[in-house]
Amino acid sequence: MNTEQKLNQAVHELTRSHVTTHDDLQGGGKRSFHTDPESGAAVPFREMPLFEQLRQERVSSTRSSGASGSGSRAPVAIPALVLWNEIQETLNTRMVQIDGKDRPDLSPEAKLQRWAAHTLQDPSGGLQQQCLRTIVGWAMAIQNLLHPVRKTEILGTCPECRETHAWSWQEDEWIRNTALAAVGLDVTCGACGSQWCGAEAVTSLAVSLRDAA
Ligand SMILES: [Zn+2]
Repeated sequence: MNTEQKLNQAVHELTRSHVTTHDDLQGGGKRSFHTDPESGAAVPFREMPLFEQLRQERVSSTRSSGASGSGSRAPVAIPALVLWNEIQETLNTRMVQIDGKDRPDLSPEAKLQRWAAHTLQDPSGGLQQQCLRTIVGWAMAIQNLLHPVRKTEILGTCPECRETHAWSWQEDEWIRNTALAAVGLDVTCGACGSQWCGAEAVTSLAVSLRDAA
């Protein structure tokens, strides 16, 4: 995928309901379909927009703390709130840069789409790269907040974007990590969002990292 396609993909996952993959418990690897129990048809797994998932996490956490007062607030509440504020502030800053003023009329989803579309006006592609890095970071931060996973950092240069490091959101601050990180047999670049899934892809990535070292 080129940068524009990756950017479109990241915007899509953050702002629209999207097809996703699940671990296949029987066969190993990934599945993107499940069988509808009534019709027997293959149906793609769908996931809510990541923005919406984060928003709901934040709201449900706030609600449970306010109503009962019994200390039942989910531990995810504060990071979700802080991350959502960070995202909104960044989007607002971009709107001021693009439109010269705040855009309270636009939803966060619309602001992100507007920002991404605007980066196409930069013929050098620099704005696009910058936008991609920021929003891949958001997508990974949201995923990690909602479904914490144990990651293994991988030293080396991402063969796709040539980055060695990426910023990731942890708890309530940005932290600099290696660009490449593995979760099981899936490796993801936190700088550009490239993925290598499964033993074969990860092995060929390992070979290219070794050859480059
Ligand atoms: Zn990369």
